[in-house]
Amino acid sequence: MPLRRKLIPLLIAALSLAACGRDSGPGGQPAASAATRHTIDANSSVARTLPLEDMRDFEDARRGFIASDAPLLIAGPDGRAAWDLEGYAFVQGDAPPTVNPSLWRQAKLDGHHGLFEVVPGIHQVRGYDLSNMTLIAGRTGWIVVDPLTVAETAAAAMALARRHLGDRPVSAVIFTHSHVDHFGGVDGVLPPGAASVPVVAPAGFMEEATSENVLAGVAMGRRALYMYGAALPRSAVGHVDTGLGKGVPFGTVGIREPTIIVDRTPQQMELDGVRFIFQNAPHSEAPATLTFYLPDHKAWGSADLVPHTLHNLYTLRGTKVRDALEWSRHIDRAIELFGDMEVMFGGHQWPIWGNARALDHLRAHRDAYRYIHDQTLRLANQGHTPREIAEQLELPSALRTRFGTRDYYGTVRHNAKAVYQAYFGWYDANPANLDPLPPAEAAGKYVAAMGGADKVLELARAAHDAGEDRWAAMLLDHLVFTAPSHAAARELLAAVYEQLGYRAESGPWRDAYLTGALELRDDIQGTTIDPRRAIGLLRNTPVERFLDSMTVRLDGPAADGKHLKFNFVFTDVDETYVLELENAVLRHRRAEPAPDADATVRLTRELLLRLGVGEAGIKELVMSDELEVQGSRLKLLDFLSLLDKPDGRFPIVTP
Ligand SMILES: [Zn+2]
Repeated sequence: MPLRRKLIPLLIAALSLAACGRDSGPGGQPAASAATRHTIDANSSVARTLPLEDMRDFEDARRGFIASDAPLLIAGPDGRAAWDLEGYAFVQGDAPPTVNPSLWRQAKLDGHHGLFEVVPGIHQVRGYDLSNMTLIAGRTGWIVVDPLTVAETAAAAMALARRHLGDRPVSAVIFTHSHVDHFGGVDGVLPPGAASVPVVAPAGFMEEATSENVLAGVAMGRRALYMYGAALPRSAVGHVDTGLGKGVPFGTVGIREPTIIVDRTPQQMELDGVRFIFQNAPHSEAPATLTFYLPDHKAWGSADLVPHTLHNLYTLRGTKVRDALEWSRHIDRAIELFGDMEVMFGGHQWPIWGNARALDHLRAHRDAYRYIHDQTLRLANQGHTPREIAEQLELPSALRTRFGTRDYYGTVRHNAKAVYQAYFGWYDANPANLDPLPPAEAAGKYVAAMGGADKVLELARAAHDAGEDRWAAMLLDHLVFTAPSHAAARELLAAVYEQLGYRAESGPWRDAYLTGALELRDDIQGTTIDPRRAIGLLRNTPVERFLDSMTVRLDGPAADGKHLKFNFVFTDVDETYVLELENAVLRHRRAEPAPDADATVRLTRELLLRLGVGEAGIKELVMSDELEVQGSRLKLLDFLSLLDKPDGRFPIVTP
C-alpha cells in the first residue's frame, strides 16, 4: 500500500515530541542492574561538589502557587493518559544510587505543578505538559502564551485557570516559537470554530512549524524514542525527567494561522489593552522565535532562550545544529532592551524574580553558548577534533557551578561537537576517517583481531569491573555488531549502558543509555505514532511539503531507467503539480498540466491527508470518487510501487 504510508515521515515529524511510548510501570520489564560501586562513587562525588542544599530554585518553583489537580491525570484521545504526573511520585527524598543527584534535584523541581501567579496580571500553568502555558490578563480576557503540546493538556490547564481565576474568554494567543510544545495544544484553548482572536507569531512560524523535519521525520521519530525515554518505565532505574520538564504528553496536535507577525526588534503593539514590546529572535533555540516584554509589569517572556538548563545546540533526536552565536546575541539584545525587568518567565520551568537575579541568569546563558562556541573554535584551530574537544571542554567555574547552566537537557560535550559540526561538518580531516569500514564489517575484524568473542567479552567485563564503562561500551558494541545473538555480550552491554545512564546528569543522555539497554534485553524496536492525532496540523501543511516527503521515499535503484510523468490536480485547493521521474529522481513543480503526462490524477488535498494518516488506503484511493485518473492507471501504480514504506522500527544498538 504505497500511498497509505508515503506521508508518514511528515506525520512522525509532527509528532516527534508527542510520541510517547508505553505507560509507566515495571510490569514485564526485564530486570535492570543495580548501581555498581563506581557509579555510586561517581554520583556521590557529584553530590559533594554541588550545593544541593541551596533551596532558592525550590522557593521560586513554589512561589505564587494557587492550586493544582490531585491526582494530576489527564485523559488522552484513546483512553491512554495524555499526562500522568502520578507516575513520578517516586521522585522524592535523596537521590537513589541509580540516579545522578543533580538530575534528581532537577527532576524534583520539574515535578512542581499547578496554577501559579507570576505577578498580578500574569499567571502560569506549569507541570501540566512538558511546557508552560502563560495567561496574561487583558481588558476583556486572557492573552494565552504557548498553549502547550496537545489539546488535552491545554484544555486541562485552561480549566484549572478558569476554576480559580474566573471564567474569562481567550482574547489573544501568542506562539513564541515553531516547536510543537508551544503551539500544538491550541485547539484546547481555542476550540475549532470559536470566534477568531488575534494570533501573534514570529516571522517564518507557519513554514517552520509545518515543515520542520518533513524529510527526516521517520528516523527522527525513532531517535526521539531514545532521547525522551518513551519506552522506559518511570522509576529510579528508568525515566525520571527530560531535564526541561517531566516528560512528553500524548494527544491531539493542532495549529492556528497567525494574524500578526513579529518580524523586527523592537516591535511594539497593544493586545487586549496590554502593551507588548516584541523581540524577533530567529535562529536561536528555534528557527522562528520571539520574546516579549511587558513594560507595565516589567516582565520578560523569554520563550525557550534561557530555561533552567543548558539547552541544545544539537538535539539528540537529530536536528540541524543551532547557531550558538545568534542565540548568544539575542540574549544580549534582550539584556540591552529589557534590562529593567523585575521578573522573567519562560516556556519551561519556573520564573526568576528580581532584576539582579534575572539579569545574572541571562548573562550566564549568553556567555555559556558563547564560551562553547569560542572555545570549540580555539581548540579546533589548534588541531583538536570533536571528541578531543568534547573531552576537555568545561564551562568556566562561575558557570559550571550554577544549576541554571548545567547539563540537564543539552550538554557541553554534545554542544561542542555541534559547534564543530556547524563549521567543519562530519570530517575531522584525518584520512583514517575518510572512508572507514561500516560498523558491522569493522566490528567483525576488530573482534577477530582481539582474539575472538570470548576474549572481547573478558576484556569488556574487566573494563566494566574497573568502572571503565565508556571503554567497555566500545568493546561490546563491536561484539554485538558482529554477533548480535550473543546473549552474554548483549546482557553485559545492557548493564554497561545502565551504569552510564545512572551517572548521566542529562535527562536525554540517561534516557538514551537506558533505552539502549532496554532494546538489548527486550529487542523492542518501537516507535508509537498515531498520525490521526496531528490532522489539525497537517491541514495547514502546504501540498509541496507532502510532495517533498514523497521524493525522499523514492527507491532510487528500483527507479533507475524509468521515465514517468504525472499531473496531480488538487481540485479543492485548485493547485496543479507536475511530477516527473527521471534519472531516479522525482521532481515536482507547480505548473499547468503537462500535455505529455502519462496520466492526470484529480484528487483532493483532504484525500491526500486521509491517506497520510491511514484513514484511507490505496484501495479507497483507486476506487474513490474523489480520485479520477485520466491516462495510464498502470503507470500510476508502477510509480506508486516505487515509493518506500519505512515504518521507523529500525535497530539502533544492534546491526
Ligand atoms: Zn519548548
